[in-house]
Amino acid sequence: MERKTISLPRLSGLTPTMESTMLKITEEVGELAQAIGKFRGLSGERDRKSDEEVVRAIVSELLDVAQTATSMMFVIEDMYGIDMSEEMDRHVEKLRQKGYL
Ligand SMILES: [Mg+2]
Repeated sequence: MERKTISLPRLSGLTPTMESTMLKITEEVGELAQAIGKFRGLSGERDRKSDEEVVRAIVSELLDVAQTATSMMFVIEDMYGIDMSEEMDRHVEKLRQKGYL
């Protein structure tokens, strides 16, 4: 099974909550959609970016999504004592059960 391991930091300059991280994830998903759609002119925009600029923007916004998801995981661990490592194992097992692996 091929894997992509992501290791992102706990942000120390913020005091995130479940609600603030959910809002931020939504914001970052919107920015990712903008990079994939608007920056490539998919809705007829004339001021398109170069392919390299678009890919950089997509990767940057995708990592913003991953960072905010990571922040929410820290919040959930702190609030509910959930062990995300165990949850990730359950997640992979769920994928296996569904036949995706
Ligand atoms: Mg962003």
